[in-house]
Amino acid sequence: MQMIDLQGVQGASNEVVRDFNKRIVLNLIRTRQPISRADLARLCGLQRSTISLIVEQLIEEGWVLEGPTGRLPRGRRPTFLRLNDERVIVGVDIRPTQISVALADINGRFMAHETMPTPPDAKHGVKEIIERIQRIVKSCNGRKIEGIGISVPGRVESESSRLVFAPNLKWTDIDLRTPIKKATGLEVELENAANACVLASVWFDRGDMCRNLVVVTVSEGIGTGVMINGSLIRGLNGMAGEFGHVPLDPNGPNCTCGSRGCWEVFASNRAALRYFSESGSPTGGLTFLDLLSLADQGNTKAVKALETMANYLGRGMRMIVAGLAPEKIVVVGDLTRSWHRFGGLIESEVRAQVLPGGCAPVLMPAHEDGMARLRGTVALILQKDFGVQREMLV
Ligand SMILES: [Zn+2]
Repeated sequence: MQMIDLQGVQGASNEVVRDFNKRIVLNLIRTRQPISRADLARLCGLQRSTISLIVEQLIEEGWVLEGPTGRLPRGRRPTFLRLNDERVIVGVDIRPTQISVALADINGRFMAHETMPTPPDAKHGVKEIIERIQRIVKSCNGRKIEGIGISVPGRVESESSRLVFAPNLKWTDIDLRTPIKKATGLEVELENAANACVLASVWFDRGDMCRNLVVVTVSEGIGTGVMINGSLIRGLNGMAGEFGHVPLDPNGPNCTCGSRGCWEVFASNRAALRYFSESGSPTGGLTFLDLLSLADQGNTKAVKALETMANYLGRGMRMIVAGLAPEKIVVVGDLTRSWHRFGGLIESEVRAQVLPGGCAPVLMPAHEDGMARLRGTVALILQKDFGVQREMLV
């Protein structure tokens, strides 16, 4: 979270400045909690009396709680402030094969989490998602729900919130937001999964944040979320970042997008399963996690299939490095469970072709790999409640 230079809002109405300051204070409490009013005033350079007024308002609105009294030398006993974790967020991550629904507090701590197979039919899928959300909402026991964050394996047109491109999901051109909002009465934020993971980095990777970041989600397909100079890049119709559908070999296997030889047909989970099958190994009902287990057990064909996938991942990332020069590339997906085995291969492929004058980015797996996409869904709602002007920080 970056501090906003208040001089930059000169000329704005008092109300806008008050809202700015309130959000800055709220974010400082979020990232530094437990924190005293005196430390808040020192950190944001506002008068102690102004801070006290803002804090009282945040307490009244139920965002902030007063915690235990601290002890300092010379008899001072400040009261510490923290976020009210009775305010919660519902997160839904939709993947082509699996949908996860979770409940988290506004600190990003997960309290409930369930999964279900993805129905092939969109209408049926939306109905099941609503049922799961309603069940998880019932378990909230009166906690205040801030909204529902939904990440999707495709691109969302921001004006209409329609899912405009999701070739692996096959729920194309559907309005997910309206029926879910209507059935639950809650605000719904919808975003591409890789973009949501970029936002998760902004909201959760404290002290580790960079302004030029690419997230690569690797699952049934490949998605990328791009942040350049601190701004999330959405592009026309929200379609920016589809590196997964850049053809690497026009004579390669067919891709779900209608083209051939796209990056994702060589470097996704499905690609690894195909390499394993092509090596003459039986693959009936085999999942990508099964393939990782086989590799762990020393199955050489499984190791080879995953190594081929890792090599292609790195090779495709060269496009991203040459085109965008990110400081960091974060990989999200099941492959990161075996990062110790395959991460080095991806990295050496990326490093093999860095342009003169260029720099290889830091390549790393997402934290808490199993929950990375869901943390993205939580970030979508934090962005709504805590963001200092939506496009200013991301
Ligand atoms: Zn494609």
